[in-house]
Amino acid sequence: MTLVVEDLVKHYRTREGPVRAVDGISFAVESGQTLGLVGESGCGKSTTAKMLVRLVRPTSGRILIDGEDIASTRGAALTRMRGRIQMVFQDPHASLDPRLTAGSTLGEVLAVRRIVRDRVERRARVNELLELVGLTASVADRYPHQLSGGQRQRVGIARALAVEPEIIVLDEPLSALDVSVRAEIMNLLTRLRDELGLTYVFISHDLGMVRHVSDRIAVMYLGQVIELGGWRAVSDAPLHPYTRSLRDAVPVPDPELESQRLVTTLRGEVPDALNPPAGCRFHPRCPHAEDRCQAEVPQLREITQRHEAACHFSEQLYPEARGLLSS
Ligand code: SF4
Repeated sequence: MTLVVEDLVKHYRTREGPVRAVDGISFAVESGQTLGLVGESGCGKSTTAKMLVRLVRPTSGRILIDGEDIASTRGAALTRMRGRIQMVFQDPHASLDPRLTAGSTLGEVLAVRRIVRDRVERRARVNELLELVGLTASVADRYPHQLSGGQRQRVGIARALAVEPEIIVLDEPLSALDVSVRAEIMNLLTRLRDELGLTYVFISHDLGMVRHVSDRIAVMYLGQVIELGGWRAVSDAPLHPYTRSLRDAVPVPDPELESQRLVTTLRGEVPDALNPPAGCRFHPRCPHAEDRCQAEVPQLREITQRHEAACHFSEQLYPEARGLLSS
């Protein structure tokens, strides 16, 4: 199984004009791997997540699962494809129906998708799913408000697993959780990926978190992917000034590395997607911007092996990064 996203676009019409939430992004995720999709709020990563599971219909572009395009699929074919790609939401409290017990939530998915034949089979499968995510069968009778945040997120994960998907889009799955349970849920996700052979798209604003879970990382800025590469290369030796500033916002536990950190100040706020800056969209905030950056759009291009960046001056700015790491 491979997931390939090609030139995916989502523009919203508003009274003020079109908002270019996602503006032509491309990436691929190989089977059993995790792609981290990282960026500040408003960069288009959540819209991308919703397009991947077709909660939002793309304006244009393709989302290919094993060559089959789900971007434009409708009807029965869309229902079938939805079974292959599922989503785990940021806030399990908001995404679970407060009137349904955990067992009913899972049972409903199993019944609607006709995965089980009768109540006995349904109950057994619900218990299996709960066990898979580290919960006991007694949780089946509890309502969301009777569960802890971590337990609720486990139910959210079980619900995604109920249809036996191949790909799971994880939209900030740890952000709403207490710090103390984040590691547990992260370990659970890693175990499930390895045991079930799942493929993940892991969305987060936190490069420090994404680097721990991803094989490859795509960095988004104002609707575009501006850097794409192996997790180590992107997080340790970024080739785009924006990724550098995200990286520098992450405290490094190693004092030696900490002292080597280049501090790039991220100036100002993310510009409005209604009216993105001309040329390089990052130029109003970039400490290295030159005249060319205002006039010419930098294309995402391979700078070292399988490590791409969309900056006119990556080689000049970061000669130390070239060829050092390409995982
Ligand atoms: Fe900065 Fe120019 Fe590179 Fe854009 S193209 S990131 S403005 S140096």
